[in-house]
Amino acid sequence: MREKRSVSTRGIILRIRNLGEQDRFITFYTPDYGKITCLAKGVRKISSRRAGHIELMNRVKIELWKSRHQWYLTQCSSEENFKEIKRKMPSIASGIFILEAIDRLTMEEHPLPELFDILNKSLQLMEFYSEDHAWIREIILIKLLKILGYINSFKHCGTCREKLPEQHAYWEETFNVLCESCLQKKPPMQARLERLDFSVLKLMNFILEHPLENTLMINKRLQHKENIEQWGRRFLYKNLSHQLKSEEALRLY
Ligand SMILES: [Zn+2]
Repeated sequence: MREKRSVSTRGIILRIRNLGEQDRFITFYTPDYGKITCLAKGVRKISSRRAGHIELMNRVKIELWKSRHQWYLTQCSSEENFKEIKRKMPSIASGIFILEAIDRLTMEEHPLPELFDILNKSLQLMEFYSEDHAWIREIILIKLLKILGYINSFKHCGTCREKLPEQHAYWEETFNVLCESCLQKKPPMQARLERLDFSVLKLMNFILEHPLENTLMINKRLQHKENIEQWGRRFLYKNLSHQLKSEEALRLY
């Protein structure tokens, strides 16, 4: 008989789907295995000891084993329930948006320990600064896209590779940032271009290069918040075929 492969790890619950009357599929993001989806048998029974720990966003200690094609959850106990985030609908919506973005952007069993750390850190910060949940959500989205290799830096012109001067630049629909002289060489009307203030470029680069905690100290102007949100969404939806379900909930609050 093939030997069972048992493992202990920790994870953050990204998604829960019911299966029949008693079972659930639970998707975790773990530092050791990346995203994994396990079958949790019997957890919908009232008598299940694991049931109370299984809730979206919880950080849990888990024990699993793997058959040839399927992970099974045997133990689950929560380390952190993020009670402050779950106290209000707007911060719940922000937390769920991050969970869904990670679920949609990652593949099963491709571990990126840095991604687990940033998810954990972001939920801890949202828990502590729950009033700042929307800004934390947008910063995290950008950090995620960077870890996954979808965004790098905005210090150089995407065409001539020269360092961008400390003035405005231009943003092309093709996700390129252009300097003024490359813009002049473009045939008019070839691409729709949007002018980017240097202060926005500087903020984008600051977010990409600094730890999450430092970005909370930034003096955010409303205009900047809107720019950062648009910027994150463009890169997100460049890589996804359809909108995240939780996007609608964000608009309600
Ligand atoms: Zn250029």
